[in-house]
Amino acid sequence: MASDEICVILDRLSGEYDKGAYPGRNSEGLNPEWPCDPFHVLMATILSQRTRDDNTRRASDNLFHAYGTLEAIADADPDHVAELVRPAGFPKQKGRAIVDCCRILRDEYGGEVPSETEELLKLPMVGRKTAACVRSYAMDIPSVCVDTHVHRIANLMGLVDTTTPEATEFALMAITPEERWSDINRYMVRHGQVVCLPNRQRCGECVVRELCEYGLTHRSSGTGPGIVH
Ligand code: SF4
Repeated sequence: MASDEICVILDRLSGEYDKGAYPGRNSEGLNPEWPCDPFHVLMATILSQRTRDDNTRRASDNLFHAYGTLEAIADADPDHVAELVRPAGFPKQKGRAIVDCCRILRDEYGGEVPSETEELLKLPMVGRKTAACVRSYAMDIPSVCVDTHVHRIANLMGLVDTTTPEATEFALMAITPEERWSDINRYMVRHGQVVCLPNRQRCGECVVRELCEYGLTHRSSGTGPGIVH
């Protein structure tokens, strides 16, 4: 796959969808808008793990209404935070991680979220996807944030041939101009929610069908593999 082909794919998807937003938010003004700063994006992205967007939204709304700052969460009772974030699932684990994360940031980073991936990865429940999400949405640093949609669609399209999101991240970085890295999450996640649905790809309605390996070999829209690996 040449880099100009992936740029064509991103250009077409950008014509279909808005610019996207961090987990639990959208850019259509339907939800209360919390700032798109490193603190809010980091908290929401931790909460978004292994749950749906609407659950992330409810949990992060509860959290941010009760505790508006990193310092307030650092001082909070983890059991209370666990109750607030219960809609996102795994309340004890996520509540503990949220509080620990804020304590580490307060005590070791001067209350700031670091921008380096290696530093972000030291925080509780922060993996490469979360680090890339914070860097791209809150810091405007080009990053390939690979969630389940990006991993699935990139493989279906034949852009990559990978078995893990981490391998997908590096493979996509290798074939995409750096200035477009953040566009991958912005547009592929929305595409995965609207057209290229897990287990129900609507290839007949897809604007990148002739650039997609799966779309080229499956003439009608309908069912297909949701996860290819
Ligand atoms: S052609 Fe089908 S499989 Fe390919 S990206 Fe579009 S909807 Fe997904």
